Amino acid sequence: MKRATLKDISSLFKLLESKNNELITNQTTMDLKSRKINHIYPESFFVDSNCINCGSCWRIDPEHFSPIENTAYVHKQPSGEKETHKALLALVDCPVAAINAPRRITSDIPNNIFPILVTKHPSGEVYYCGWSSRLSFGASSWLIIRPEGNVLIDSPRWSAPLARQIKKLGGVVKMVLTHRDDVADHADWAKAFNCERWIHKYDADAAAESEKKVIGLDAIHLGKQLKLIPVPGHTKGSMVAVLGDKQQILFSGDHLWWNPEKKVLVASKDFCWWDWTQQLNSIKTLLNLDVAWILPGHGFAHQFGPGEWQEALEQTLRHGEETTKEARI
Ligand code: SF4
Repeated sequence: MKRATLKDISSLFKLLESKNNELITNQTTMDLKSRKINHIYPESFFVDSNCINCGSCWRIDPEHFSPIENTAYVHKQPSGEKETHKALLALVDCPVAAINAPRRITSDIPNNIFPILVTKHPSGEVYYCGWSSRLSFGASSWLIIRPEGNVLIDSPRWSAPLARQIKKLGGVVKMVLTHRDDVADHADWAKAFNCERWIHKYDADAAAESEKKVIGLDAIHLGKQLKLIPVPGHTKGSMVAVLGDKQQILFSGDHLWWNPEKKVLVASKDFCWWDWTQQLNSIKTLLNLDVAWILPGHGFAHQFGPGEWQEALEQTLRHGEETTKEARI
């Protein structure tokens, strides 16, 4: 059993501090203009040394951003309006403002650049919030628009422009915190929208003010067509959220994510902070779902065709069990 959450996170933050000792809580056009960087007026997009290698940019715009060693870089300059807009999404999303671009472009970033629509499901429209936070190492957060009240899945960085857009979409009545690592600026969002926060009791010390604590392993229904399923493993209090009864949308936190290169669903023993055997057991409880989309905290989102979910999950389980056996040898 591996119990290293606080220590691991603390080491991670020390590493981040050494890379960037400037606290950036809200990236705005004015921030970008005033950053003390060598290239104040760059002629092209580039990534500076503040990069923490979180992966948000190459997830949102793989056409222009890639990883290299321990950083991101621009492998192709965006050209034309559409491509530039995509690169700007990555720039605004970057949790440490490490992406730079010509001033003529950054001075004209639309206030409504996020959230962006991911999919329309009969049980709600789902948006990607952007504005990822260094406090959650650039984790993704998602917004579900529903007639019975909108739900925010994990916390983006606090952003007044994003808050204004969410308000136009009807605000937030509930915020689900899938696990302790991705709570970021939850207090600011809860205050802005007076929403109730849901977190599992075992991870609740990360957001102690949360109004609702989930206890035990039973699924909890948050109104119609939305449920929380506790999936202990990555952390003791990890949960996933499931939208809909059919062709479901799974908000998986850091329990599972998609690897587009290997075309596999990933559960990572290396990034399991609590109990790997428990994590494998928790994965088994998701076999009977009918998942059409996985939207994780870290890693790539993915859309599944009919029947592909079970096949992918069984493959992940086989691989996970082999990893466990190898570790025992
Ligand atoms: S989003 Fe920012 S911090 Fe994250 S990998 Fe890209 S440049 Fe680096």
